[in-house]
Amino acid sequence: MENRKGAVITVSAPSGTGKTTIVKEILKEFPEIVFSVSATTRKKRKNEKNGVEYFFITVEEFKEKINAGDFVEWEKFYDYYYGTFKSYIDDNISAGRPVLIEIDVKGALHVKEIYPEAVLIYIYPPNLQELEKRLKGRQTEDEADFKKRIERAKMELSLKDRFDYLIENKDLNIAVSQVKSLINNIINKENS
Ligand code: ADP
Ligand code: 5GP
Repeated sequence: MENRKGAVITVSAPSGTGKTTIVKEILKEFPEIVFSVSATTRKKRKNEKNGVEYFFITVEEFKEKINAGDFVEWEKFYDYYYGTFKSYIDDNISAGRPVLIEIDVKGALHVKEIYPEAVLIYIYPPNLQELEKRLKGRQTEDEADFKKRIERAKMELSLKDRFDYLIENKDLNIAVSQVKSLINNIINKENS
């Protein structure tokens, strides 16, 4: 069909739940999905590459992009800015490609306001203790950042009922296969 737009899919979860781990598996399984690379002002982690996980930019550069209207949405949390590029999403969905956005919980709700057809997936941890354990085990945050992430997780967990699909990440393999099957359905529905 002509002019068919690609799906917009968001994946959200409190920090440390496992969404990046799951999204990496999804992108391997569905090479046709375009990953929306956000901009951030936080520091690059050891295993990250500029332009792959994020575009790592300065606060000044970020503010210029806000003023230029480059973002669909942006958020400031844990003292860092994060923003989703509008033209990247629009270009890809206009070309019929599905776009996956890994985004915080509030950001996903903003995306739905701009793209009402977006499908919002929420991944949640078995409990807060397990979340703390995973976040500590990842060893990417200092103590202050860790505390901020856990505080924010409590707020984010309270918003989960506003999402289209909820998936628990207890056993990683099970969660990955549930998200794969869900995304398969979303993409095939768009193409039918
Ligand atoms: P997020 O992107 O949600 O912040 P990550 O994908 O970075 O989370 O995962 C946080 C940590 O938890 C990582 O060390 C990851 O290997 C681990 N992890 C992910 N899923 C599980 C799971 N089901 N059980 C145990 N550990 C997990
Ligand atoms: P991290 O620093 O762990 O990579 O990400 C912190 C949080 O920012 C995660 O919940 C992640 O999904 C979210 N995030 C990443 N990119 C964006 C974005 O463009 N906008 C918003 N609002 N959140 C984002």
